[in-house]
Amino acid sequence: MFKAFLIKYAEIAIKGKNRYIFEDALVDQIRHVLKEVDGEFSVVKERGRIYVYADSEFDYDETIEALKRVFGIFGICPTVVLEDKGYEELSKEVVAYVKEMYKDEPKTFKMDVRRAKKSYPMTSMEMNAQLGGDVLDSCPNMKVDVHEPDVMIHVEVRDKIYLYSEVIPGPGGMPVGTNGKAMLLLSGGIDSPVAGYMIAKRGVKIDAVYFHAPPYTSERAKQKVVDLAKLVAKYSGPIHLHVVNFTDIQLYIYEKCPHEELTIIMRRYMMKIAEEFAKKDGCLGLITGESIGQVASQTMHSLAATNEVCTMPVFRPVIGFDKQEIVDVALKINTYETSILPFEDCCTIFVAKHPVTKPNLKVIKRSEEKLQDKIEEMMIQAVETAETIVCE
Ligand code: ATP
Ligand code: MG
Repeated sequence: MFKAFLIKYAEIAIKGKNRYIFEDALVDQIRHVLKEVDGEFSVVKERGRIYVYADSEFDYDETIEALKRVFGIFGICPTVVLEDKGYEELSKEVVAYVKEMYKDEPKTFKMDVRRAKKSYPMTSMEMNAQLGGDVLDSCPNMKVDVHEPDVMIHVEVRDKIYLYSEVIPGPGGMPVGTNGKAMLLLSGGIDSPVAGYMIAKRGVKIDAVYFHAPPYTSERAKQKVVDLAKLVAKYSGPIHLHVVNFTDIQLYIYEKCPHEELTIIMRRYMMKIAEEFAKKDGCLGLITGESIGQVASQTMHSLAATNEVCTMPVFRPVIGFDKQEIVDVALKINTYETSILPFEDCCTIFVAKHPVTKPNLKVIKRSEEKLQDKIEEMMIQAVETAETIVCE
């Protein structure tokens, strides 16, 4: 029955010049997700509306699933497109539609006719009244409620006539690419994929860095991160994942610095290296999955010590979330099952029994002085030898 989808998007914040940037990015991202769906589609902007038209047979459920991953979409309306063959024919179609859609349960409804084609021989008011009456006459299930209807039956009269009543919720947010770019520190855990998703939802394009420590972390641990990046990319669009070989730096820190400070010092170098990639890729910030107090490296003191090396803003969208709240998002976006696969992470191997929870920055900096012979060189090496994987 449906051959088109009207895409509803939030219109606040897209007044004026920003509007076409927002709409173009939305159209691009819709085209991108539909590439994976069975069927041929065209996505068009028409007078302040975006429509997806199916140009062939298509898989309805897959189409909806794909559109539900496009940030910036507020609602997806499966739409019947009719040729204008006069009022009688239209009335028949509307009645048939209502019968088909609401045959099971009684519903209250309201007609909402918009007549963009001013040459149509009836006014919107007349059409509301007439069509409403025709539905009432033919569908004993349906009652009018103009204040709080269960369903709004929209009829838009343009060159063709568009009929829809269902609004399937989209993910909200802003189209990816309308708000610059940031670099996600992506581990194999639960938190960082969620963090990436949340920032992408605000229209930010993301790339990612993963610190790999072979042979302490396995190929499977790396594959898990690639898989997570692909899952996030279903929402964010392609992610360039930089896989950094971090083993030598970790071993060097392990050799030179007090073990209870390892995690903090290691995290400071991770941030510095991530920032190098961020600069190269034109990113304006870093993203981590840190949440206050979750582990020793995420106390306020530790976060402050880690943050001290960064010159770019660091976005921590799950900072105030409890674990369960993060898990809930991970389940919603389908990263959870992959995140809990039991492959070790480079941080878990080098953790001390009693890591500092209130690192003193002066003490940390003094420890880092012991690395000065080789660390700069090693960081350059780590950046230069990184492998970049396009995850989509
Ligand atoms: P996650 O669930 O995201 O792994 P976590 O609770 O395990 O987080 P940590 O291991 O302390 O917390 O890491 C905090 C943040 O640091 C992560 O959310 C991620 O952004 C970044 N991070 C940690 N390990 C790595 C890694 N190996 N590669 C890239 N980023 C990392
Ligand atoms: Mg982790």
